[in-house]
Amino acid sequence: MSSNARKLLARALESGRFHSAYLISGAAEPAREAALEFARGAVCQGSPKPCENCPSCQRSGPRELIKLDGKGEKGPFLRHIGDHADLFWVERGATNTRVLIDQVRALQQALHRRGGDGGHRVAVIADAQWLNHEAQNALLHVLEEPPPATTLVLATETSAGLLATVRSRCQKVALRDEAGDPLDAPEHAETLARVEGIPTAKIPELLAWAGEYRGNRAKAAEAVEELLLLCNAWLSRRITQAVQSPDHDVRRPLAACRTLFDCRKSLAQRNANPQMVAERALLAVHRGID
Ligand SMILES: [Zn+2]
Repeated sequence: MSSNARKLLARALESGRFHSAYLISGAAEPAREAALEFARGAVCQGSPKPCENCPSCQRSGPRELIKLDGKGEKGPFLRHIGDHADLFWVERGATNTRVLIDQVRALQQALHRRGGDGGHRVAVIADAQWLNHEAQNALLHVLEEPPPATTLVLATETSAGLLATVRSRCQKVALRDEAGDPLDAPEHAETLARVEGIPTAKIPELLAWAGEYRGNRAKAAEAVEELLLLCNAWLSRRITQAVQSPDHDVRRPLAACRTLFDCRKSLAQRNANPQMVAERALLAVHRGID
């Protein structure tokens, strides 16, 4: 975690003064973990927060996880963190590709019922990049009129697919600092090596590559999300280098960046087919770089 991000969260926990909403962005697992720790810390009565010893920490500690279902058929829309009445957790249902509007509505209702012991409440929405458009609009209502003594925490891998109106109402916490460029992250090394080969690849090779993102949509969409993230970071770096040379022309790489942005949106908000999105992205990067 970048030290600034850590300080910001730690200060809030120490002072007990919270913003009504936070947007924690970073790699999937670290973002979820930071959100979980922050939520548990917010209701902890000990120190450091979470202390793991006080009654609150015992209640918010690990339990067997109930699988969620965005349609409410095979599981609930949301769950508590541990069995702590003041802590809520929303994520994509086990068989859903998106966080669905009914989950946001259920959260909204839960937050309007005054439950728990009257203390501060925290609701985490993990996988926030998978909130579809209508779910985001529902969330916007909660952000616009936050229930008293309540903090919302969105954990997301990327905020690209989130509405500007949602982003602007959140205190931003970026777990990746400059040194944490995704191009330097070891978990992306393999995909990055392939991305670097895009300019010299033949079209049929790129189409075959996109063909790898068939099958289980949730899995494929995650892999394509990583691909888009890396393509974008790599292109951005090329553009930054290019503008420093006297005869630069960055129109084509910039056009490719715009296409990638579009790809991320259609993947996250419009439920687009991951293989099709990958195809469009790979060809755009190929065209964008000589
Ligand atoms: Zn505690």
